[in-house]
Amino acid sequence: MVERMARREVAAHFLIPADQPPGVIRPPAPPMAVRIMSCPDCGADADRFQSAGIALPFAEWRIVAADDPDTGGLPTLAVLGCEWFAPRAMLPVAIAIERFGPVAAAAFRSRAVAVTELGELPFDAVLAALDEQESWADALLTGDVLPAQPARTVPAASRLVSPATTWAAYRASVTARFLGPHASDADQGRWNEVYLVNRRDAAVRTLEGYASCPA
Ligand SMILES: [Zn+2]
Repeated sequence: MVERMARREVAAHFLIPADQPPGVIRPPAPPMAVRIMSCPDCGADADRFQSAGIALPFAEWRIVAADDPDTGGLPTLAVLGCEWFAPRAMLPVAIAIERFGPVAAAAFRSRAVAVTELGELPFDAVLAALDEQESWADALLTGDVLPAQPARTVPAASRLVSPATTWAAYRASVTARFLGPHASDADQGRWNEVYLVNRRDAAVRTLEGYASCPA
């Protein structure tokens, strides 16, 4: 399951051909409402997120507090107040909105938010639930219709946003974590290693595939 989640993240990164002509930017970055959920581990909220000055890869965005129902009619992405994503992680979100429109593709959330909502489930059950919530990204790859899901979980690891005043804090902040910014502690650290190795290998294989294509 962890391997499949890693391969899904990589596949989503390559939804746009690596040989896209220069100057062509597709899909266009959508406007989004970004809903900031308070982190159950470190307490980071919308204020902390805002003061961290995190740039998001959207045409424009409005930050919405966890309890604010007004999204301004924009599609919504829910993240924790302490997590940061590589811009490419949002590629499947942008493609879903371009392909299906912001009404059908209206609500997304990070794995960390999904894990928080799942509560105290066994680890295997958490993975199974995430795998199901991420299946919309598989539909983008196969060209199928977008499956009806109340909230679509974005298949991507995230990093911890931290002031990094110590080396340990800095090191923690540069490590991608597949279940969210605090999720590599204890036993899950082993699975994070498995995830990152699989993600790297899948990316290498995909790039080798491009290299061997006749130009
Ligand atoms: Zn946190």
